[in-house]
Amino acid sequence: MNYAIEPVTLPTLTVAGISERFPVNRIFCVGRNYAAHAREMGKDPDRDPPFFFMKPANAAVDASSPVTIPYPPKTNSFHHEIELVVAIGKGGRNITVADALSHVYGYGVGLDMTRRDLQLDARDKGRPWEFGKSFSRSAPIGALSRVADSGHVAEGAISVTVNGGARQSSDIAKLIWSVSECIAYLSEYETLEPGDLIMTGTPEGVNAVLAGDVMQGNIAGLAGISVAVRA
Ligand code: MN
Repeated sequence: MNYAIEPVTLPTLTVAGISERFPVNRIFCVGRNYAAHAREMGKDPDRDPPFFFMKPANAAVDASSPVTIPYPPKTNSFHHEIELVVAIGKGGRNITVADALSHVYGYGVGLDMTRRDLQLDARDKGRPWEFGKSFSRSAPIGALSRVADSGHVAEGAISVTVNGGARQSSDIAKLIWSVSECIAYLSEYETLEPGDLIMTGTPEGVNAVLAGDVMQGNIAGLAGISVAVRA
């Protein structure tokens, strides 16, 4: 293949235990998937169908070892959202809830970093969220654990600390829409492809970080992450 211009490098993530890397395709993110977080964002938690937004593939940052991300421009409210990340290994459309987990390659710990001021301004004006959510290096993700190695993740502690202090702490069991339900619903609207990631939503306790802060994210059974913010 000859390209007219130099192509950008495909974003990839580390897979725990093997040298082969996971190629990142699209990043789908679930909005408001924990009731307590929906409430803190001023919304009523309910079983309305899940909704999704996207991040570009170049939002992904390999956080399999301690990593630094830049404080992004045009915000005074750079928020952490700790989330369970689902890595799709097998594509498909109109996937059933019963079959959904067979499409999962593995799981990881991720941060849906958000320019909250831009997101809320867009939300309140009825505009797209892109500038608040869909920017480069806004999704640090730890080493993926393969289903073959660690099974599926349906419960377990999820947390993030900032400079050692507690910020977000919940349990994967509190997801309003389960991993299976998210996959099935999403696949009705978009044919899933290998390499797609699904960020499953964040629990309550979202808050701002500043340059110099260090976030430690953990989910029981998965590789934790350490992400520093630089000016
Ligand atoms: Mn999120």
